[in-house]
Amino acid sequence: MAHDHVDVLIVGAGLSGVGAACHLRRTCPDKTYAVLEARGAIGGTWDLFRYPGVRSDSDMFTLGYSFKPWTDPKAIADGDSIRDYVRRTAQEYGVTGHIRLHHRVLGAEWDSATARWTVRARRDDTGEDVTLTCGFLFVCAGYYRYDAGYTPDLPGVDAYEGRLVHPQHWPADLDHTGKRVVVIGSGATAVTLVPALAGRAAHVTMLQRSPTYVIALSSRDGLADALRRRLPARVAYPLVRWKNVLLGVANFQLSRRAPRLVRRFLLRAAAGRLPAGYDVQRHFSPRYDPWDQRLCVVPDGDLFTAVGQGRADVVTDRIDTFTPTGLRLASGAELPADVVVTATGLNLLALGGMTVTVDGAEVGLAQTVAYKGMMLSGVPNLAMTIGYTNASWTLKADLVATYVCRLLRHLDATGQQVVTPLAPASGERAPLIDLKSGYVRRGVDALPKQGVSAPWRLYQNYPRDVLLMRHGRLTDAGVRFSRAGAPPAPDRPNPARPADAAVG
Ligand SMILES: Cc1cc2nc3c(=O)[nH]c(=O)nc-3n(C[C@H](O)[C@H](O)[C@H](O)COP(=O)(O)OP(=O)(O)OC[C@H]3O[C@@H](n4cnc5c(N)ncnc54)[C@H](O)[C@@H]3O)c2cc1C
Repeated sequence: MAHDHVDVLIVGAGLSGVGAACHLRRTCPDKTYAVLEARGAIGGTWDLFRYPGVRSDSDMFTLGYSFKPWTDPKAIADGDSIRDYVRRTAQEYGVTGHIRLHHRVLGAEWDSATARWTVRARRDDTGEDVTLTCGFLFVCAGYYRYDAGYTPDLPGVDAYEGRLVHPQHWPADLDHTGKRVVVIGSGATAVTLVPALAGRAAHVTMLQRSPTYVIALSSRDGLADALRRRLPARVAYPLVRWKNVLLGVANFQLSRRAPRLVRRFLLRAAAGRLPAGYDVQRHFSPRYDPWDQRLCVVPDGDLFTAVGQGRADVVTDRIDTFTPTGLRLASGAELPADVVVTATGLNLLALGGMTVTVDGAEVGLAQTVAYKGMMLSGVPNLAMTIGYTNASWTLKADLVATYVCRLLRHLDATGQQVVTPLAPASGERAPLIDLKSGYVRRGVDALPKQGVSAPWRLYQNYPRDVLLMRHGRLTDAGVRFSRAGAPPAPDRPNPARPADAAVG
């Protein structure tokens, strides 16, 4: 392919990358753009994960795009429906033709003299190396490694003669009918898999080291159903979206302020759906407070139903060793298994694993500070999408894309080409992701940091971010605007400068 240039280069054609391209089409129609996608299909997470029952655990009124109403009756949707929604949206907004599949971005080099990124990609289908240049790099590459999910040390696993699978690479030929299945894990994937497999398996056991909060929610949204009968989707959708946003914020805030109350409520709700005398304390009562890790949602309580009907059970124990026919646990119990599923999580990966250099110097991601959770200190004209940890990913993805479009229009209006975030003057830093989940603990040190105050602090609060990112000032003490060829911006804001005078 010839070396070509676009105004904006988007990396990744998942929910975020397709959304970013649609935002550009809608609000910056004069900008040229391309989307480079490593895989042979669009949809990201919703194309990669093919395990039985794969679904969202947030409602689709907030996981859907702000500009494209979710019209399916199910509020909690299966993976296929979400993938179709992403594809249909790309088609409808004329984005599909701009997506170049099989293009894995390896690195990007910024040159201040020309105010351009040179982006190197490799075509996985032909092995060809491809170079593009762009004015703005928009990384929508998700947050985890696609090639390998996380599998902890499994003692004695080599002795196991059954089938061992990771949900990230579900084998298309795996038939679990009549099989005894053990699912290792207690997160969203495990609680999804267990009831889905229980339909045809002989029996399914969820083997967890420690419990997670599990909450049953209706797979339908009553308000959405009622409004849809009376109002057009364009009117009903934002109303339901805001209702769910506000409920989510209220739940999160209540969990933070009154964790014991919320904990009691969650355990009581679980007990109400399980058989009398079930040991809720042992299997559904975590050692941490609600929202220290994400809550696991089970639509219509399907996990509890499977357990109540005896098709599935939960075992809270540690693995002593695998045996040829299953697992032996620390308690001495044996779990026979024809299939073992390691629903043990993801490996975090920032910026899709690409290297980034600014004027020849490699950027150490862990040393950067995220500006408004979406740009990196000292790195010009680059934005990345990282969604909320306590609400639907797309709520934030939409705001990031909106903000990028505002920045691009501001640059044009002021005759400038470069926007560079600065690090906060205070040296205090916090981890970018404020969750205690295993996959976060394992990988968070390698990620950019956040500061302790705005605009470097992440509040994980959508209504607040709407004000900041849709309506807030573009010019503040955390960012410099400049022209091509200007010397690179200093790392830190000048304390003598008024906070909002950084407009070029
Ligand atoms: C099983 C599962 C269930 C989930 N459920 C929910 C949920 O219910 N609610 C919620 O809010 N979030 C959920 N999430 C988080 C989920 O990832 C987001 O909702 C959303 O799909 C992220 O979209 P994305 O486009 O940002 O990233 P991804 O879906 O990860 O897509 C990133 C894309 O970028 C491509 N890419 C990566 N690196 C490169 C590179 N170097 N070059 C080119 N292309 C690259 C990938 O191939 C991929 O297509 C879930 C995640 C998983 C794994």
